[in-house]
Amino acid sequence: MDKKKLSAIQRDLPKDVVLIAVSKTHTKEEIDEAYASGCRIFGENKVQEIKEKYDPNYHWHMIGHLQRNKVKDVVPLVDMIQSLDSLRLAEEIEKQCAKIEKVMPVLVEVNIAREANKTGILLEECLSFVKQCMSFPHLDVQGLMCVGPMNGTTADIEACFEKMQVLYHTLQNEYGAERIRYLSMGMSQDYALALKHGSNMIRLGTIIFGQRNYNK
Ligand SMILES: *Cc1c(COP(=O)(O)O)cnc(C)c1O
Repeated sequence: MDKKKLSAIQRDLPKDVVLIAVSKTHTKEEIDEAYASGCRIFGENKVQEIKEKYDPNYHWHMIGHLQRNKVKDVVPLVDMIQSLDSLRLAEEIEKQCAKIEKVMPVLVEVNIAREANKTGILLEECLSFVKQCMSFPHLDVQGLMCVGPMNGTTADIEACFEKMQVLYHTLQNEYGAERIRYLSMGMSQDYALALKHGSNMIRLGTIIFGQRNYNK
């Protein structure tokens, strides 16, 4: 873990921006170390990994594509699902959360760069999707999440973040800024651009924990 880098980021981050430490592929020991350095929310993209590293003293966000058959296992453990990307998933979260009487904060994942290999709701479908999700009593839609374009230029990335910001403000006008309060965008490579376009939740993995090794 890069403690110096992390403390520089923490120092420079505006007070209203939430930092998610993306700990996927990293060990519980590394997570403990990040916690000791002030990280409070950890982002994971696999249910199995959350189960293995789970610690009730920390906050966990699901940030990766979630299969419906895993919803039951993950809803008791996480404080937010940032990767809501289909109506069928919303229905399953509603069903499983109703059983345990939990209202789940969720963010709608937008496939903002319209990439075929990515999940997420297309921009033009977002308003009606959010409206549908608002009718589920055990879902609390709190905003939007996106992953910037993979091999985009700075201009491409900024164009995407700009569109996200417009959509975010549209939703705030529709449902209120008390309810729609998170715009989760920005990763290690592009978080400065995301902050420039109104992000208030950044998800940093590599820059905090170093390169991921998927073959461990
Ligand atoms: C892995 C991941 C991140 C962190 O990416 P880095 O480039 O390592 O900062 C953020 N968001 C999501 C959805 C991810 O899957």
